[in-house]
Amino acid sequence: MPIEVVNATYIYMPGTPFETRALDGVSLSIADGEFVGIIGHTGSGKSTLVQHLNALLKPTLGSVYVNGLNLNDKDANLRDVRRAVGLVFQYPEYQLFEETVRKDIAFGPNNLGLEAADVEARVREAAQIVGLSEDLLDRSPFELSGGQKRRVAIAGVLAMRPNVLVLDEPAAGLDPRGRREMLALVRDYHARGGVTVIMVSHSMDDVARMCSRIIVMNHGRVAFDAPPAQVFAHGDELAAMGLGIPACAQLANRLREKGFAIPKGVFALEELAGAITACLGAEGEDGHA
Ligand code: ADP
Ligand code: MG
Repeated sequence: MPIEVVNATYIYMPGTPFETRALDGVSLSIADGEFVGIIGHTGSGKSTLVQHLNALLKPTLGSVYVNGLNLNDKDANLRDVRRAVGLVFQYPEYQLFEETVRKDIAFGPNNLGLEAADVEARVREAAQIVGLSEDLLDRSPFELSGGQKRRVAIAGVLAMRPNVLVLDEPAAGLDPRGRREMLALVRDYHARGGVTVIMVSHSMDDVARMCSRIIVMNHGRVAFDAPPAQVFAHGDELAAMGLGIPACAQLANRLREKGFAIPKGVFALEELAGAITACLGAEGEDGHA
């Protein structure tokens, strides 16, 4: 289910004093099975962008294609698109509303008109993927912890068995352990195979560790779209956009500036340590360590 955004511009409240150009000529394509991180400062257009991927928003100018289907087409079946591209909003737990966890997760599948047994199978599968134990299914979602509520909301999207899972800041507002667990859940879900995952984040460290590709948004435009290592080579430009780079990538850039032969693409702690050791070893052999 490839996705293609072609020169998309989105303007909120056009023709009013509050007019905001939230997207400004965005083009990108995402292939099946990718794990893409979208990062950018607050207000850079991340949430607006991802809401275009399942036609919750339609571009003011430009086009969005999902599996070759132009979402602007009058007769495009947007229900099918929304089933195939599952979007988990930021703070999705605020949208829980059913009296039990089971009913909340079952809401989407029920709307698909599936048999009760199929719905139940999907609920159990989704609950298992997000790590909710079965005894929670009959509880009220409102009795659960914040992290558990968020899992329920994500399970509701997964129960639709989307081909593309889009998560808008899934770890936002969780405590450190909750963040780690949530990110592990997302990573494991992608690792199961067969799905595309697109994750909005404001943590460069998180996307660097998890994603093979990072799209950096700035003022409604794509500033960079490349593997993490290539993105981190632009440390100064990222800093100007209010974005940091992982501490190890910063250190690697500094050492490179000082003439150390640290290969591009090194930003994980272990790799950097290895590269530094290799440099020191090489200098030692030359006799000027
Ligand atoms: P991000 O998710 O990167 O923080 P958003 O896509 O939410 O960015 O916002 C991009 C721009 O659009 C910002 O200037 C924001 O204030 C504006 N914006 C977002 N949502 C709305 C809305 N519903 N109405 C008007 N302006 C909005
Ligand atoms: Mg946002």
